[in-house]
This record gives sequence, structure tokens and C-alpha cells, in this order.
Amino acid sequence: MIFFDRVSKVYPDSSVALENVTLSIEPREFISIVGPSGAGKTTLLKLFLVEERPTEGAVFYNDTNVHTLGRGEIDKFRRNVGMVFQDFRLLPNKTVYENIAFTMEASGRTDEEIEADVPHVLELVDLLPKIWNFPHELSGGEKQRVAIARALVNEPDVIIADEPTGNLDPVNTYDVVQILKKINDLGTTVILTTHNKGIIDSLGKRVIAMDKGRVVRDDRSGKYYV
Ligand code: ADP
Repeated sequence: MIFFDRVSKVYPDSSVALENVTLSIEPREFISIVGPSGAGKTTLLKLFLVEERPTEGAVFYNDTNVHTLGRGEIDKFRRNVGMVFQDFRLLPNKTVYENIAFTMEASGRTDEEIEADVPHVLELVDLLPKIWNFPHELSGGEKQRVAIARALVNEPDVIIADEPTGNLDPVNTYDVVQILKKINDLGTTVILTTHNKGIIDSLGKRVIAMDKGRVVRDDRSGKYYV
């Protein structure tokens, strides 16, 4: 479980990014976070990943205050979290296979594991036929599916997808959202940030609306009213 306990964040230049945010996310939940630019969404994710420290309050992951972890423990904790970004962040000179293998190597997985798991995870995102292609040979939606496969390959408990469809057309957006749903159905917690009202309404999952550093709505009916 992820728990933000009365968290505030004021940056050194006095920008107030979060104000007294309390929020809990259950294992296997699919939660969307919406809100205008500057609402505090990125700061919330950064505090969870221990990329920033809270000014007040605490952030827990399975009863551990993540901001009390040492450096090595933070690395271990982050391996529980797969990240997907709007701009894909694939390595352009590596094939699809190598992009995913690279992540696995970095987390100390063996060659045998890599050879077995890369095709498996590409199958999950329906992209096995593109295993030997380079990123520039893929559509935006395909690139994002590689990024999702890469995020999944170390079997994280949580996937954070930060505006994953921001660069995609409606057809590719639909595919990416379907894959996130499938991953969630298989048991992974999904945290999605998006501006896309259509996605939120079609998901019908919990929506957190943020504005000016506060959670202004927490709606389990899955509607986007902002
Ligand atoms: P969102 O992701 O919803 O656009 P952010 O968390 O990026 O919101 O930003 C929330 C507020 O914090 C904004 O006012 C922003 O200008 C400010 N902010 C974000 N990052 C920094 C930073 N590193 N230093 C100073 N202010 C920041």
C-alpha cells in the first residue's frame, strides 16, 4: 500500500507544490491523477520515488517510510516501481530486445533470464514481431509499448505511467490504455497521470483530481469532472 500522510512540499524558492496531501493507494488499484499544470502531480510522484523530500508529513510504502531508507535501500525500493514516460525514453541505437535487456542487466539479471523474459514481456504488449527492430522503425504507440514492456520486465508491484499517451494519436492511445488495464488485471498497481478526459471516462477507475497542491477530489466512480 502507498500512503501519503499529511504531506506538504515547499521548494527552496518558496513554491508550494503540495499542501497537506493525505492519500492512500491499495495494492492492485488502478488510479488516475488529473489536474492542471502546476497542480503538484509530478511532485507527488517524485516524493514517492524519493527524488524529492517532503517538507512536512511522510510517504509510506508497505508500512515503510520511504524517506528513512538508506541509499542502497532506496535503489531496492525503486525496483518495485516501473516507470513509463510521455517521451518513451528508449535508447535509439539499441533494438527493442536490447532496450529491455539493458534494464535487466542493470538490475543484475542473468543472460538466461534475459533471453527468456524479454520475449515473454514483449508478447504481453503484443510486440514480439518487432523484437529486432530499432525505435525509429516503430510508431509512437509501439514505442510506448516497448517502454511499458521495459517497465514490466523486473516484475514491479507498481507501474507509474506519467502522461504515457501525451504524444499519441487516439488509436495508439487506446492500445496503450488497454495494455495498462491488462497489466492491472494481472495484479500490478497502476498510477496514471493524464489530461485525457476520454481515457478517464473509458477506464471507469478511481480518479484523484489535484489543484494548487491539494487533492480536490477523490472519486471512485471513475468520472473526470475537472
Ligand atoms: P504538475 O506535475 O501537476 O504540473 P508540479 O509538481 O510539477 O505540478 O509543480 C507543482 C508546483 O511546484 C508548481 O508551482 C511548480 O512551479 C513548482 N515546482 C515544481 N518543481 C519545482 C522545483 N524543482 N523548484 C521549484 N518549484 C518547483
